[in-house]
Amino acid sequence: MKPVPIKIHALDGLVCPECGKSMNKSAAADGGNTEPWTGDISLCYECGAICLYDRELQLVKPTEEELKSIRNDSETWFFIGACQQAIHQKRLRIITEEEE
Ligand SMILES: [Zn+2]
Repeated sequence: MKPVPIKIHALDGLVCPECGKSMNKSAAADGGNTEPWTGDISLCYECGAICLYDRELQLVKPTEEELKSIRNDSETWFFIGACQQAIHQKRLRIITEEEE
């Protein structure tokens, strides 16, 4: 299977609300803007958990309602599934700015 390329953005103090893994980077798997915004969906690089950025840009678990709304967007939901699969199979490849 092909690796999934991702770009990274350095960010301090992120903790996965699901597995507790500390992270210091965010990535835009679609190759877009890597800087996170409130309400952006994030997947934990360690466990693949679906998280959201809150107002302080900390990772929180989505509420049932938020999760339902994410699931209702079939394109996003399919993309999340593909990314989670890549995370679980360790197929994510980090692209640094120099490689662009
Ligand atoms: Zn996690």
